[in-house]
Amino acid sequence: MSLSAFSPRLIIGIDILKLDLNAKVGIVLLLLTVSLLASHRAGLLDVSFDLLAEKHKFTLHKLTDGTSVTVHEQDKDYIKASCTIENLNGYRFCGVGLWLSGNGNGVSLERYDRISVEAKVTSLSVEDKTNTVITNDNHGLRVYFRNFNSEYSNLDDLQSLKFNGVLYEPVKNKLTTIPFDYFNVEGWWLSEYKVQFENAQFDVSNIVLIEFLSSEIKQEGQYLVEINQAVLRGALVSEATLLKWMLLIWCLVIFYLINRQRAGLKKVSITDSLTGLVNRRGINDWFSTRLNRDGLVLFYIDLDDFKKVNDSYGHLVGDELLCRFSEIVLATTKQDSQIDLHLFSRLSGDEFALVLKKADEDEVNRFAQALFEVFSKPLKLTSAMIKVNFSLGIAICETGQFDFNEYLNKADAAMYFAKEQGKNQYKIFDDHIQQNIIFRKNIAQHLHKAIEDDEFELVFQPMFYSHNLSIAGAEVLLRATSTELEGIGPDVFIPIAEEYDIVVEIDMWVIEQTFIKIMQERNMLNSRSMLFCINISALELRNASFPKDFKKLLRKYEIEPNKIELEFTETRLIEADHNALNILKQLKALGVSLALDDFGTGHTSFNQLLNFPIDCLKIDKSFVSDLTTCAEMKTSMINAVISIAKSYKLKTVAEGVENIEQYLYLTHNGCEFMQGYYFSKPISWPELLKFMTQGQSEHLAMAASKVDIKTRFFQ
Ligand code: C2E
Ligand code: CA
Ligand code: CA
Repeated sequence: MSLSAFSPRLIIGIDILKLDLNAKVGIVLLLLTVSLLASHRAGLLDVSFDLLAEKHKFTLHKLTDGTSVTVHEQDKDYIKASCTIENLNGYRFCGVGLWLSGNGNGVSLERYDRISVEAKVTSLSVEDKTNTVITNDNHGLRVYFRNFNSEYSNLDDLQSLKFNGVLYEPVKNKLTTIPFDYFNVEGWWLSEYKVQFENAQFDVSNIVLIEFLSSEIKQEGQYLVEINQAVLRGALVSEATLLKWMLLIWCLVIFYLINRQRAGLKKVSITDSLTGLVNRRGINDWFSTRLNRDGLVLFYIDLDDFKKVNDSYGHLVGDELLCRFSEIVLATTKQDSQIDLHLFSRLSGDEFALVLKKADEDEVNRFAQALFEVFSKPLKLTSAMIKVNFSLGIAICETGQFDFNEYLNKADAAMYFAKEQGKNQYKIFDDHIQQNIIFRKNIAQHLHKAIEDDEFELVFQPMFYSHNLSIAGAEVLLRATSTELEGIGPDVFIPIAEEYDIVVEIDMWVIEQTFIKIMQERNMLNSRSMLFCINISALELRNASFPKDFKKLLRKYEIEPNKIELEFTETRLIEADHNALNILKQLKALGVSLALDDFGTGHTSFNQLLNFPIDCLKIDKSFVSDLTTCAEMKTSMINAVISIAKSYKLKTVAEGVENIEQYLYLTHNGCEFMQGYYFSKPISWPELLKFMTQGQSEHLAMAASKVDIKTRFFQ
């Protein structure tokens, strides 16, 4: 067996150091309790008080009044008192008393619970009628503890001191131990002094006098009272008191441990495990318990394109970046002597909140710029160098009244603005943002009403084959018809509907209305290959029931899936995670085709493009309009998109084509489909039907005819 097996740390094979604090404290307390009780039982906590050894501290008191008493050898370890009883009609007792105190305040003997006495009473010379000397060693002896109680005791009248007494028969040369339990209060004394019930019990709380007194002497003569030993015995604490104390200690310790545990759990629940910062719950708690709310400044930080970091470098790098970012922000804040930090919290994934003490706008501006300055260079992580960009929204509260959620919303709105303005910048919440919030809220309310009252309609923008400009399909576009939403297009109200979670209802309405129209014209449409392109909010990619609901409508209206294309904007698709991809795959499996809308604005990487089960790229109209304004862009962007599409065998649609030059350039470079005001603005359903049935307009035929001379045109 190794030496360590005998280590004191090991108790019944358990290594205490490895236990958690609760178990350690429990074991220590148990050991302490057991050892204290054992010590008590073994007498280690016993105390004693040798009355004779200490007697010089006290005054010896002769008890035999009226008769002669001699007290011998006062300074030795024993007391001897001889007395002569001359008259049996008088006081017939012999003995001595020890005054523990003379001023009425005695000594508490509560720590003792027994007295050991070795004493005897001897009659020295008693001559009977026949003149024989009788010695009587078998006299009883009384021990009294005389208590002083100011209510009924009087030091001038010794009788009034409470008689707590016991009578015993001393055995020669034998130490007798008398437990205090055997003592009681003299009956005559109780009736004499008529004490209350609570005072009618044995009491050693304030002993002024201890008496050793012979029992009543029946024969005149000389007597000797010898007290050889008189020791009070007890324990430092009684076993009951010890148990009470231990119980109290156990309770206190358990209370402390529970509180500690609770505090620990609380700390965990309000701490972000990755960065060690306070989490959202923690910041909420902090605000709810803060009473003195002076002005504050709230920074709402959101990392730009953090998902890209996770996707490109993996989650470990993402986590490291979040940690490093929070460390640097914290260090920058602490180093800044003009900024006082209250709290730094990670609200969720890549969102942080920084709560600063009151500061004016100049200081806030300076500190915000300093933060961007710190992150102007790429961050060196273990396995990558990454440039961290973030958008920052700031809300300044000057007054004492601070509603956390209100200011968090303000800072969030300001951050949103900073992001809209092109990311990696900050914005302080102001009236303009306030107005915007109110505007959005109003629109959301009007949208709710419009959904209830069916105040929407659909328009259709035809899409054409590039080579001959025959109609290939139409994009379904939504219009709100309510007076409140007049002049507000889907480019404004759809993002608001997304923000307020009403876009799912809107999408289903558009899909159903489109299907109803297709169903009504089934006969006419069956003879043509017409594709209906429906815009779908990226939020549907988080709506697991969307493919199922969509399928239900397909079935209900018996729509051929190959007539339907669903468009998702590219920027939002990059945020797609595993679940979103799954939804896209389910939709694809239904037989509909999928398009990436506004392609070119989201910087989708080739790898990502491969992941998405898409069929079509819609070149964003900003690139198309660049064709006429910016010669450089022509070749680069458009050609890149078309060649990507070709290599992935995807269709290409150019949207926003407004003039013949754009049309010819795109066609010449291989873009298959065209859409734009040059060919047709969005039109009503009857107009679309007319468009399909009437054949090509002169305008389109003219344009198409120019394609034939494309080579000459561009050379
Ligand atoms: P989008 O999907 O890119 O739609 C094309 C937008 O460009 C349409 O605006 C259309 O009217 C406009 N447009 C078409 N050709 C031209 C052109 O030659 N020049 C110019 N300047 N504009 C052209 P609209 O209808 O205002 O739609 C705006 C956005 O709203 C759409 O962009 C789409 O993202 C969203 N949206 C429209 N309808 C719906 C819908 O039913 N559901 C959902 N979720 N979103 C919709
Ligand atoms: Ca679209
Ligand atoms: Ca588009």
